Amino acid sequence: MPFLADSDRKRLARDIVLNAVEWRRSENHSGSGFLGMLAAENHSGSGFADCQGTASVNTLNYRAVDDAIIAELRTIVGDSRVLVDGDVVEPYSHDEVVGLRGRPEAVVRAASAEQVSSILKLAQRARIPVTPRGAGYGLSGGAVPVVGGIVLSLEKMNRILEIDKANLMVTVEPGVITGDIHRAVEAEGLFYPPDPASLDSCTIGGNVAEGAGGPRAVKYGVTKDYVCGLEAVLPSGEIIQAGGKLVKNVTGYNLIQLLVGSEGTLAIVTKIILRLIPLPKVQVDVLVPFGKFQDAADTVSDIIAHRILPTAIEFMERDSILAVERLLRRDVPFHDAEAHLLIQLDGNTQEAVDADYEVVSELCLAHGAEDGLVARDRPMRERLWEARRKIIESLRHESPISHMEDVVVPRAGIAVLLGGIKAIAHQHAVRIVSFGHAGDGNVHVNVLKDDLSFDRWAEVVPLVQVEIYRLALSLGGTLTGEHGIGATRRRYLSMALDEAQITLQRGIRDVFDPNRILNPGKIFP
Ligand SMILES: Cc1cc2nc3c(=O)[nH]c(=O)nc-3n(C[C@H](O)[C@H](O)[C@H](O)COP(=O)(O)OP(=O)(O)OC[C@H]3O[C@@H](n4cnc5c(N)ncnc54)[C@H](O)[C@@H]3O)c2cc1C
Repeated sequence: MPFLADSDRKRLARDIVLNAVEWRRSENHSGSGFLGMLAAENHSGSGFADCQGTASVNTLNYRAVDDAIIAELRTIVGDSRVLVDGDVVEPYSHDEVVGLRGRPEAVVRAASAEQVSSILKLAQRARIPVTPRGAGYGLSGGAVPVVGGIVLSLEKMNRILEIDKANLMVTVEPGVITGDIHRAVEAEGLFYPPDPASLDSCTIGGNVAEGAGGPRAVKYGVTKDYVCGLEAVLPSGEIIQAGGKLVKNVTGYNLIQLLVGSEGTLAIVTKIILRLIPLPKVQVDVLVPFGKFQDAADTVSDIIAHRILPTAIEFMERDSILAVERLLRRDVPFHDAEAHLLIQLDGNTQEAVDADYEVVSELCLAHGAEDGLVARDRPMRERLWEARRKIIESLRHESPISHMEDVVVPRAGIAVLLGGIKAIAHQHAVRIVSFGHAGDGNVHVNVLKDDLSFDRWAEVVPLVQVEIYRLALSLGGTLTGEHGIGATRRRYLSMALDEAQITLQRGIRDVFDPNRILNPGKIFP
């Protein structure tokens, strides 16, 4: 965490040690058979002793990764693809969640489905936890090895295997960076719409496992809407092929959709077949400033109510824009506005896009927008989107300690949600900056520590978190739209799902993974 001072890291580390202990206790209470014991090793000198209570967690049911296991892993993938040294494995101890860390006992970089299979068979036999990992750009701790064990990185399985123009499908390995898929298919006049803001860093395997979304979800949907086939390795080591280059397929249960969004707890994805669509010929982006926060929020609901489906409607409030300016050291247009909407429209003819644009601009003006910046060429569009994509990084630069939520509500409820979040911030006297995919009801809510004391911070975050969840649930929404439950929201799962559903879902996991070697400590309370 480059933005954290050492003293802050140590303080955060204490919280995480407590979380780990709590996790172990809750697993015991649920009668899962995990015996609670913290191996209180001192990892000082490992390079990350200050911050990973979870690092030393292991259970009596899980075997430690010893020299014999390391030797077997080396036989499977080769010496250079097994990492064990403290500094070398450190980057695999966290994702993008501030402060959450877990020390991998070994990191293995697999090169094929067969290697993944052999690793899982070994882990199964020896009862070693395995945490799959793409690029570690997740925002719910999914790739963090909270109970130690093996981190199985898919980063080296990064080939685009085929762009099938006859079937409009692309076949990829899981470690391909999502933005590389975009560029490759767009060069062929084709389009893969899901575009998480992290697209030039995250992997398609991580997107599949998280069910990732992105700004274009308003019109085009999310990752799950494009996955037609998967090759996956079950925790037993068995390799399955689900689906294929098929637009229709109702043969048996829909295992593909079960695996999409399963957060690496059911299987490890080793090949993905994605549906493509023709690349729209015309695209226009408009940045619209609003003098009042609520006017921008109301405009989003009104655009949807007028049956216009923009490609994207992103919402950014002033604090996020100013933070981006400070990070990029250049002006963002209309920086005095209380909120911005970044609206993208696309289509196959200029006339169709212009017609939508007319309606959207009229609605914006009717809600108090005074101006707008239209970008029709790629460099200008990229410039507008750069500001949007830099928000998370910029806010972390401002307040290295922060907490992010990802609630989602039915689209029409977005104005009430945004207004309610402001009220929660006011009530608790804490700075909350919201931005995100307002057009699909999904908002990223950033609670910033700024200069609050650690005691106040520890007290206020859970209060605010629960109130934000309650607000979203009261509007018919839920806890997370695209970042996942992972390690950070699992204790709140029962706010959104009733006992019957949680029991059913646990049961499904146990069918796939009765010994719970795959990504333990995620999703379930
Ligand atoms: C700046 C920023 C912006 C972001 N914007 C968005 C956004 O707009 N939309 C969005 O949805 N998300 C967004 N995210 C979150 C994140 O990028 C996504 O969750 C992404 O899908 C993570 O991919 P990854 O390769 O980094 O996965 P990781 O973080 O490595 O892993 C994520 C989860 O997937 C599992 N996993 C990874 N690979 C596999 C595999 N091959 N098989 C099985 N399980 C696997 C892991 O175990 C873990 O549970 C953003 C993150 C950042 C930091």
